[in-house]
Amino acid sequence: MKYSIEKVITLIGARRIGRADANIGWILTDSRSLCFPEETLFFALRSERNDGHNYIHDLYRRGVRNFVVEHVPETAATEYADANFLKVVSPRAALQRLAERHRDEFDIPVVGITGSHGKTIVKEWLYQLLSPQMVVTRSPRSYNSQIGVPLSVWLIGEHTEVGLFEAGISEPGEMQALRDIIQPTIGVLTSLGAPHQENFRTMEEKCREKLELFHDAQVIVYDSDDDIVSRCIRRSGFGGDKIGWSIVSSGQFDDVVSGRSADAVGMTVWVERGADSDVAADNEAGSIAGTDARHETVTTMIHYIYKGVAGTYRLPFMDEASVKCSIACACVALYLGVVPEELDRRMSRLEPVAMRLEVKEGRNGCTIINDSYNSDVNSLDIALDFMSRRPDHHGRRRTLVLSDIYQSGESEETLYKEVAELAVKRGVEKFIGIGKALCRQADSFRIGEKWFFADVNEFISSDVFRSLRDEVILIKGSRSFGFDHITELLERKVHETILEVNLNAVVANLNYYRSFMHPETKLVCMVKADAYGAGAVEVAKTLQDHRVDYMAVAVADEGVILRKNGITGNIMIMNPEMTAFKTIFDYDLEPEVYSFRLMDALIHAAEKEGITGWPVHIKLDTGMHRLGFDPERDIDEVIRRLKGQNAIIPRSVFSHFVGSDSHGFDEFSARQFRLFDDASRKLQSAFDHRILRHMDNSAGIEQFPERQLDMCRLGLGLYGVDPCDNRILNTVSTLRTTILQLRHVPVYETVGYSRRGVLSRDSVIGAIPIGYADGLNRHLGNGRCYCIVNGKKAPYVGNICMDVAMIDVTDIDCKEGDAVEIFGPELPVTVLSDAIGTIPYEILTSVSGRVKKVYYQD
Ligand SMILES: *Cc1c(COP(=O)(O)O)cnc(C)c1O
Repeated sequence: MKYSIEKVITLIGARRIGRADANIGWILTDSRSLCFPEETLFFALRSERNDGHNYIHDLYRRGVRNFVVEHVPETAATEYADANFLKVVSPRAALQRLAERHRDEFDIPVVGITGSHGKTIVKEWLYQLLSPQMVVTRSPRSYNSQIGVPLSVWLIGEHTEVGLFEAGISEPGEMQALRDIIQPTIGVLTSLGAPHQENFRTMEEKCREKLELFHDAQVIVYDSDDDIVSRCIRRSGFGGDKIGWSIVSSGQFDDVVSGRSADAVGMTVWVERGADSDVAADNEAGSIAGTDARHETVTTMIHYIYKGVAGTYRLPFMDEASVKCSIACACVALYLGVVPEELDRRMSRLEPVAMRLEVKEGRNGCTIINDSYNSDVNSLDIALDFMSRRPDHHGRRRTLVLSDIYQSGESEETLYKEVAELAVKRGVEKFIGIGKALCRQADSFRIGEKWFFADVNEFISSDVFRSLRDEVILIKGSRSFGFDHITELLERKVHETILEVNLNAVVANLNYYRSFMHPETKLVCMVKADAYGAGAVEVAKTLQDHRVDYMAVAVADEGVILRKNGITGNIMIMNPEMTAFKTIFDYDLEPEVYSFRLMDALIHAAEKEGITGWPVHIKLDTGMHRLGFDPERDIDEVIRRLKGQNAIIPRSVFSHFVGSDSHGFDEFSARQFRLFDDASRKLQSAFDHRILRHMDNSAGIEQFPERQLDMCRLGLGLYGVDPCDNRILNTVSTLRTTILQLRHVPVYETVGYSRRGVLSRDSVIGAIPIGYADGLNRHLGNGRCYCIVNGKKAPYVGNICMDVAMIDVTDIDCKEGDAVEIFGPELPVTVLSDAIGTIPYEILTSVSGRVKKVYYQD
């Protein structure tokens, strides 16, 4: 659906500057996601950290002509003569208003989903349950914020028959705006839990706020076993239909069926757990909806009575959270007229919700971006956006492997024209289409290299598959096409031990530390030591995407790797080697300068290259006594030498706390700060340009936010360990392996080298393919520490070997091939470091390069 610019102006009530004609089909708030410039309306949003107005010039250059702004650029009449500026008081409110008016155009059922957990799962499962019979528009991934919701609702088109939208709030008062935009006719409250509780005084307050969303809905679906929810709904004066569901025992269920006891408000449920399976049902929320690697097929039978009619469906999951999500979905589906037999059929085929785009190293120099969960145009666009944003300076080709897309409501021709256009705009250079419809529409694709196959098997047995090499490959298609098979074959399998890195957790930790900082304070992120073991390149790409001001590495070569992989921002080199100056200049790296010898050599080298004004960072030694100028004795001479040349220029001046993580050193820290403060002021006052002053590291940011000065340096905290109390923030790295072999070993035998593993009982011993050469510290052996197998502690037995370790699984129900967690969400890395008297830094940075890394993000 397109709106003329005049219509948009009327809808949002803007003052227009400019007279160009335009039709608007796309709205944009993040300049990096630009796709169709001519038809795009850009909203210049302002946040604490960023201002959309700064991107107008760039977007104009890339062809955008329509902007919603708070203030019109002064050069609008000259520089942007053919553009339209729509001036409003608040672009964010205008965005919400436009979405609201767009929503008004449609008289269709719209499901609003809110709650603390399970929103995305309920939305995605409802999509799977409803899409066989109606055209569904839903929020992409978890676009559920004040900005994400309007962007989602904008996607409703003329073919849409039902909308599914998530609404998430973090503060009181936000829900009303979301209600006006979504205008749900059906409300689903998934569950109430802890997230964002900090901003609400009580659970009731939070619950009431969430219920705001459903104020004008016709019906609301909720867990009537939750007393707080039930009470709040009763008191809210909600006038529509209520479908409260309640889980009862089999006896109580029989009583309802036979009429001996009354039906609940909406749906009475008896959950019969995995009758045919012995898999434990104690999965925690972490494994919700099967995001873990589960091989068994498990089934839960759900018996229900809905509006007096009994039915049953089979659910291919058994954990509590999945069961509850499925019940909420069943209520909505039945309400929307899905018949019980169909409900059963579709429930039994529910796919786990893969809420991640995975990035993996593949064979033959390929990188695989895996989104083999479903395929529709929205999620295709998001995945393409993700691929195109990841810079790739090996100049590798970008390849898209796509399956047929079902249920778009558009004609096949229109649909694939749109898909083809998207692919071209997002820079796809090679296209591989799999499916009969794609084969029919092959002509729509005007892409340099294109191939079409009727099915996955035809593709995998082709030369096209065998010759995939040095490409970035996005795999996007539904599992029903067997797309997971493609990924499996393409993945490089060198070792069964992997380090899983959660890039979302990196961002969450970044934001945690930013919350202590003023919006204008700059940030250096330490990606030295291969990003504390997490992998510098992928971490840096993510950080670049979140606009950190500097990245810092130890040596020049680490900086070169970042540059070669598309990191364009400022890079600081903490320990520049005297032999690396040429590299530093060639790759635009900024060295730290800590001594006169280094300073003179650097100046000399720069002068020889004819360089002037090369930015450097001056380090002062205020108490660590490692590297740095003496702030009292040396500072005048530092100033004199800097003043006497123009090859280098001080960009920043800094020092490092020796004990910001411990209150025992507070006095010493204060002294360090005083020394630094005096010397750095002196340096600044000698120069006209601004010299950034910085001292806080991770612990400092948290302990001494008042000492943040112009910039902070974030290290360990970014990787999820709070250095102040060894608490885990958001787990970034998980080291996993699998059980290679199990054996029974009788009590009189020993395990491993030098017979150190003495057994006190008949034991079951597992061998796992990880040893000290992978970074599993040898001191963890002989029962000093343990790993986690199926949720239980498995101690290391005997000496840890170079490539293998042995664990005691006597009391654990497990089999060969089962997953083993060395450290991660179930076993904090600090447990390992404490066990052998070291610090988490060492454990993280020891993981060796031969351990494959797998990155993922929601
Ligand atoms: C490594 C490093 C940091 C980061 O320290 P964390 O304790 O990991 O936050 C900060 N500044 C300098 C100079 C460093 O070398």
